[in-house]
Amino acid sequence: MKAEIGVLGMGVMGRSLSRNLARNGFVVSIYNRHVDGVEENVARDFKAAHPELAEAAMAYDDISAFVQSLAIPRKILLMVNAGPAVDAVMEDLSAHLEENDILIDAGNSHYQDTIRRIKTMKERNLHFIGSGVSGGEKGALIGPSIMPSGEYKAYQHISRYLEAIAAKDSNNQPCCAYIGEQGSGHFVKMIHNGIEYAEMQLLAECYSILKAQKESNESIANIFEQWMEDQGSYLLQISVDILRKKEGDAYLLDLILDKAANKGTGKWATSTIADSGEPATMIPAALFARYLSSFKDQRTKAEALFSSPKEYLSILNDKLKEAYQFARIINHHQGFSLIKNVSDQNAWQVNLSEVARIWTAGCIIKSDLMKDISVTLNQADNLLFNEPWCSQLSATHSATQQVVIKCMENQLPIPCLTAALNYFHGIKIGDGSANLIQAQRDYFGAHTYKKKNDPSERSYHTVWEG
Ligand code: NAP
Repeated sequence: MKAEIGVLGMGVMGRSLSRNLARNGFVVSIYNRHVDGVEENVARDFKAAHPELAEAAMAYDDISAFVQSLAIPRKILLMVNAGPAVDAVMEDLSAHLEENDILIDAGNSHYQDTIRRIKTMKERNLHFIGSGVSGGEKGALIGPSIMPSGEYKAYQHISRYLEAIAAKDSNNQPCCAYIGEQGSGHFVKMIHNGIEYAEMQLLAECYSILKAQKESNESIANIFEQWMEDQGSYLLQISVDILRKKEGDAYLLDLILDKAANKGTGKWATSTIADSGEPATMIPAALFARYLSSFKDQRTKAEALFSSPKEYLSILNDKLKEAYQFARIINHHQGFSLIKNVSDQNAWQVNLSEVARIWTAGCIIKSDLMKDISVTLNQADNLLFNEPWCSQLSATHSATQQVVIKCMENQLPIPCLTAALNYFHGIKIGDGSANLIQAQRDYFGAHTYKKKNDPSERSYHTVWEG
């Protein structure tokens, strides 16, 4: 008997995805490398520990036997760490693959790496699908959101597996959609993670504001729980759980060191934002807030050196909620505008509404907001100029301003809320101040400038001195 699909890499995600495939009735071959004394019988032991794999899975630590166990064309889901590990396993596999076999990289690979890998595989008549997968360990087991890309013909061979294991949206449709050519799936997953960074940072900022108002963890959890009524999201829900979790008599959250780590997708998203020319300010703000958090020693030293206000911060919960809502709309607007921009630059024709739809379940940024955004993006490609977002931004703008002003007065850092507000103020100024920048550039570098009311758009240069 040949397996229908293989999973290479029995780490956190590979384990969950193979169980998910087996639960959906597929015969699956699972493989993990053998390293003497370190990684031995990993796949076999994993199979033995999970009854659903007993009949449905064949376990290997020999790569040749693993590949030979698969039906042709072979379909192999790579679940290894992004970067050199993907190239290493592709190299290990290459001697065993045959024309038309399909590799699916479902890790968090950089989309430029995926573009390169598709090209090298194609030269050998092999297919490569780069697929974002979101949902973490649990999502991968019960239904993740899946963002595949690459040659559509190759995708058609694997769509049934990915669609079966994906989460289902509110219409019972799979949260898996073909994103487009090349590395568009990994690109979209990278922006998903960027949006996630900003959503997490926004919640951390709201938490810090409520903490500054001397709210207890339990009462912050209660406030967030109330917000769930019309701002429901996975990240808000897990924050409620986190705020309530105790270790002994202490709240676990209070015992956790305030240094946020990252695995690189926020950094990649930020570099891509800079390259794209899209003013998506919230993802970089969230990334740099994580970087700043890691400067714990400097922060402690500076705290002792510079005085801080002792005033009692007083912001009404309703106002804070409105500011949170405002910033989330801007965050999603920026994220989807970025996807549109890069999709246009690469002629990927990414369907924004479909992306939002497959993010309504299974993934870390699933939310009620995402469901509404998916509806808007079905008819428009920009949230800012469309209802109900225009009205919601207008309605929550003043509260956001009040929250930001109070935090500034109290020296409370809120980089993402501020970035959202500054973006909004910047995008709604028809006549800004960049004329001075252009004049300065022309002054010192003869970079030229264009003049208002000159339809020819010719470039001018001025000798500014004298
Ligand atoms: P993980 O638990 O660290 O597992 C990594 C797997 O890759 C292990 O099976 C490891 O084998 C294997 N591996 C690494 N280098 C290898 C090499 N050179 N040759 C052969 N096998 C190699 O990682 P994970 O959490 O499953 O993540 C896998 C990918 O999914 C990553 O790209 C990650 O960013 C992405 N992802 C993770 C999550 C999550 O929540 N964890 C969510 C979405 C996406 P050994 O055990 O033998 O070292």
